[in-house]
Amino acid sequence: MAVEVAPDIFRMEVPLPGNPLRSVNSYIIRGNDDGNMMVDTAMNRPECREVLERELSDLDVDMTRTDVFVTHMHADHLGLAPYLTGGRGTVFLGKEDAAFIDESDYWMRMYAYGVMNGFPRLDPMEAIRKHPGYRYGPLGEMNLRTLAGGERFTVGRYEFRTVHTPGHTEGHMMLYEKEEGILFSGDHILFDITPNISLFEEDKDPLSEYMSSLKMTRELRVENTFPGHRTPMKDPGPRIEELISHHLQRAEEAFDILRDSGPMTAMDVASRMTWDMRGSFEEFPLMQKWFALGEAIAHLRYLETNGKVGVRERAGILRYSLI
Ligand SMILES: [Zn+2]
Repeated sequence: MAVEVAPDIFRMEVPLPGNPLRSVNSYIIRGNDDGNMMVDTAMNRPECREVLERELSDLDVDMTRTDVFVTHMHADHLGLAPYLTGGRGTVFLGKEDAAFIDESDYWMRMYAYGVMNGFPRLDPMEAIRKHPGYRYGPLGEMNLRTLAGGERFTVGRYEFRTVHTPGHTEGHMMLYEKEEGILFSGDHILFDITPNISLFEEDKDPLSEYMSSLKMTRELRVENTFPGHRTPMKDPGPRIEELISHHLQRAEEAFDILRDSGPMTAMDVASRMTWDMRGSFEEFPLMQKWFALGEAIAHLRYLETNGKVGVRERAGILRYSLI
């Protein structure tokens, strides 16, 4: 059942069966004559579609008069945007994230970089097809409009501004209402789980960007935070401090592993880091190893940017060591 979490703002919790995230939050901001705004959708799979359609009809939402603000390109947020808007409403998405949608070799490129970092050499499509982002991504045309941050939207009683917060993805966007202190935080700030910061590319440093985005968010006056997953909270301040120190600790853990064991691949570093998973790293399902590897690379790159770690390539394999 949709819950009114603030005047004219409704939270719909959509289940993600078989996924460790458990569910995703989609929100409806009810407008006047100028239409409504939906914040995030869910994965493009029947279990999500059925729940969302039922919730939207219970709320009497006319999707022909509703635009969709998508906090970032991941399938659990963007997946149903083309289906729900049916090419009528506009889908808003950060410009760096939108660039990935049309890039046909995106998955192959990520996979190749994973292999350079020690991921097992399989038939790439075997791994890619298992990835929820590939399986449940958006299908069909959508009326996409890209955002750079700072855009303003009036929806009913509210005056929103978009806030670019790179880190979880490069084009991650939040929606902020200064007067009422309302923040749709997407996956930039989550309370019950830790946002995944991961990297499968050269020349990028998402963790440094994430840390800056967290510090910038700390400056906003927020009374109600509506996250992309799980429970909404009031002031995000204490959680922001926790997230900053969590990543500093993780970076330190990666640093200690390299100090104690010498040069190794990011996959080897990942296998020695601590994870909230049962069993040994070798027993993790392939997809969990993939996510762990992405996180390890992001923390190693952060150490590299900070002058603590160097990387060397030999025979197509990258090995990290302390400087
Ligand atoms: Zn998410």
